[in-house]
Amino acid sequence: MIIGPSPHVSVDGPVLIIGSTGFIGRFITDACLDSGRPTYLLIRSGLTSHFKATIINSFQEKGAIILHGSMDDGDLVEKVLREWKIEIVISAVGGKSILDQLILVQAVKAVGTIKRFLASEFGHDIDRADPVEPGLTMYNEKRKVRRAIEKAGIPYTYICCNSIAAWPYHDNTHPADVLPPLDRFHIYGDGTVKAYFVAGTDIGKFTIKSMDDIRTVNKSVHFRPPSNFLNINELASLWEQKIGRTLPRVTITEDDLLHAAREMRIPESIVASFTHDIFIKGCQINFSIEEPADVDLSALYPDARFMTIDECFNDFVGNIVENPKLFKQASGNKNGSIIMPPTNQEAL
Ligand code: NDP
Repeated sequence: MIIGPSPHVSVDGPVLIIGSTGFIGRFITDACLDSGRPTYLLIRSGLTSHFKATIINSFQEKGAIILHGSMDDGDLVEKVLREWKIEIVISAVGGKSILDQLILVQAVKAVGTIKRFLASEFGHDIDRADPVEPGLTMYNEKRKVRRAIEKAGIPYTYICCNSIAAWPYHDNTHPADVLPPLDRFHIYGDGTVKAYFVAGTDIGKFTIKSMDDIRTVNKSVHFRPPSNFLNINELASLWEQKIGRTLPRVTITEDDLLHAAREMRIPESIVASFTHDIFIKGCQINFSIEEPADVDLSALYPDARFMTIDECFNDFVGNIVENPKLFKQASGNKNGSIIMPPTNQEAL
């Protein structure tokens, strides 16, 4: 899919992406390459898995320029920014590397020509959300990075894309990489607190579309697609329609989530604390978007079409049809048979 530049785009210079091989970084890199922007990827050398090598190859085939190095080498990053005349820097590093971005911020400041910096956010508005520990520590680190960017006077955009469209497992950092449940649902609390679910491809696409829009400079951009605003009971019913059968619903209480957070198993306990914040406390919906610091993506681009959660779930079903082994693994079904009733086939 080719994504044209926003009419409000002010520059079309080179983009440096850090974290391109990660869960969120892959979507952003794909979208950046699809947009036709010159795309440079800073990749750590060292042990490279077959999976990572395949991703890097696919990016290279689409025109990415691979630069080897680590974000925490400030001198190298400065050299890269100057040498390749980078105008936009996007960081999508994971939870363990959030504070290392402080070195990146200093390099961006020293170069002084970066037109927009997007730190590794890609979730909630971390100045408003208030998870229990250990999620709070991660948010405090992200807050430190925000304050450093603002203090350095670097033009920024904070991407608050809410939840990735997938089943929101309370112990999985990358839920879109696995199927929704095929044995039973875990329903958080009474299952009525709503959240926004955004397809990974849309996180990438709209990050790239808004990254140098002059209307997003020094703002938090909130992804709140009305079509993808559901509570977990609704999400479960939708998935039941897709697989053509009902599944038992097991309640995970607020106390269960707090207990899982207190266990301090990293990263699972971090996800449990975010799950508590989203589905018990309503952290995605308990504030309104206010000028001048915030902007709603749907207001910026009224014609923007988000992939619906219904379509995302169709993709998961498609994965099952293409690879019945997934079904076997996910359901623990010993004979591995896949039963797709006619109604469900029609839904596809
Ligand atoms: P991952 O752990 O999947 O990927 C991190 C990437 O950063 C990898 O490519 C890694 O490279 C790279 N990286 C880390 N440190 C460095 C460094 N020093 N120099 C260069 N590259 C580095 O991260 P996630 O995709 O899970 O997280 C990214 C962001 O998205 C986070 O802010 C997270 O909170 C958020 N997120 C949001 C979700 C949502 O539902 N909204 C879900 C998951 C994450 P390497 O291969 O070398 O390790």
